[in-house]
Amino acid sequence: MTDRTYHTLNTLLKRSDADARVLPASVRMQQDVVYALVQKPSGKELLIYSAKKSSPPAVFNGRHVEDDLFFAPLNASNAAALREVFPWTAPVLVGNANSFGFGDRLGNASAAHLRSLEESSFRPVLAQQSIREMDRTQRTPQEVMDCATWAVFETGYTKGFGSDADHLKTTADIDRTMAAGFTMYTIDPSDYVDNRVVDMDLDALKQAFAELPWSELKDTPEAFLNRYVGRTFDLGHGITLNPSEDDILRAAVKYGRVVLHTYNMFTYLRTAYADKPSEVELSVDETPHPTTPEEHLIVAAELQRLNVALVSLAPRFCGDFEKGIDFKGDLKAFKDEYLLHQAIAGSYGNYKISIHSGSDKFQVYAAIGELNVGTVHVKTAGTSYLEALRAISMTNPSLFREIITFAGERFETDKKTYHISATLEGYPSEGDLTEEQLPDLFNDDNARQIFHVTYGSVLTSTSSTGKRIFYERFMQTLHVNAHVYEACLYRHFRKHLAPFQIIPAQAQ
Ligand SMILES: [Zn+2]
Repeated sequence: MTDRTYHTLNTLLKRSDADARVLPASVRMQQDVVYALVQKPSGKELLIYSAKKSSPPAVFNGRHVEDDLFFAPLNASNAAALREVFPWTAPVLVGNANSFGFGDRLGNASAAHLRSLEESSFRPVLAQQSIREMDRTQRTPQEVMDCATWAVFETGYTKGFGSDADHLKTTADIDRTMAAGFTMYTIDPSDYVDNRVVDMDLDALKQAFAELPWSELKDTPEAFLNRYVGRTFDLGHGITLNPSEDDILRAAVKYGRVVLHTYNMFTYLRTAYADKPSEVELSVDETPHPTTPEEHLIVAAELQRLNVALVSLAPRFCGDFEKGIDFKGDLKAFKDEYLLHQAIAGSYGNYKISIHSGSDKFQVYAAIGELNVGTVHVKTAGTSYLEALRAISMTNPSLFREIITFAGERFETDKKTYHISATLEGYPSEGDLTEEQLPDLFNDDNARQIFHVTYGSVLTSTSSTGKRIFYERFMQTLHVNAHVYEACLYRHFRKHLAPFQIIPAQAQ
């Protein structure tokens, strides 16, 4: 878009609203009609201008402020209309390219996410939200999708973005997110992982193996054993795996019903929505015991036998991938395991290895960048909420002090479904901290995790009058201080992306 168009638009805009300004990267022309996002003190709106005084396309709802100027609110039907006019504001399949998932629980971070990704070869996955996150933030899949659409339009990012309906457990979850136009479906079969295998002796193992749902798996125990026992699997690059009979039985018992559930979810997705493009990830990260390479191999081979095609798979890695803090564990062991997982992914359908709870795992990014094999997908979400809170600590200390106290009170209840090690021991009272010390809390792993798991309560808790306690003030603070918030996000995600060595050094 030319500078002239931008200046003309701004001049036109000032006639009706002196405090409004056009967001320059958003300005687009389509069939003699100009579209742009406008920032007003009250929020953003879509401006539609047609010099020929033709009406804006009827698909948009809103109001004329003058004959040639039309304002459309950022609602669901206008987002749908925008995706029709500018197809690049709708999500696409990302396929087997390096990709980075930017969960945006607040719905106001994706523009900064996209800016942080400039010059990187990662493809962005923007609308990424699990069913659990949507429940905790009381957001719908459609709201999540629409926020991504508006952010893409605002930044003029036309290269295509993915959208991840994350941690889906049932076909109803597929229906809900498909209705909102999601393109990537992350199947979470963790309820079907049989974690008892770690304590089973050989007899118990054989018994459990015999009891697997063989006919639903279109298989028999004999045929299964015949495919694996005594065989060597050549994964290329001089890497081979020779699973023992014990490995094979344990893998079958631990993941047999995972394979079946994944097959059922995949089949449902591809038959009920045969006309909708979709890509599928399998995630078993939220389970207590690491996924061994032998287990991954057998799951991969079985899914291939059942014609389940994956775009990515998230193993449960060794060590600890706790929320909001760096990797804990043996980095050398992680690297060895990662190479094997990549070799398996390369041999069974060429999918990506997906890193869940990927926020702030700086040692892991450096290791992956250094190894530089295969393709990777990284998922982050909570760290963007922490950056929002950091911006609040810098710009609205009194609100942040209230949140410190509230998060401490909620922690024991809210931590239950999370993999974290934080405790309230050493967590400060807000009164002990000077204003300058408030942002330092984001350097403290304990405090980070306490903030991390209490986001849902902070955002949605209501007072006795039914009004949300923090939400309006939280969002208003970020809106008024958007430049601080965006700078926090930008800096933090550049720091995430740099260790992969995919961003050229001079641009860091
Ligand atoms: Zn996960």
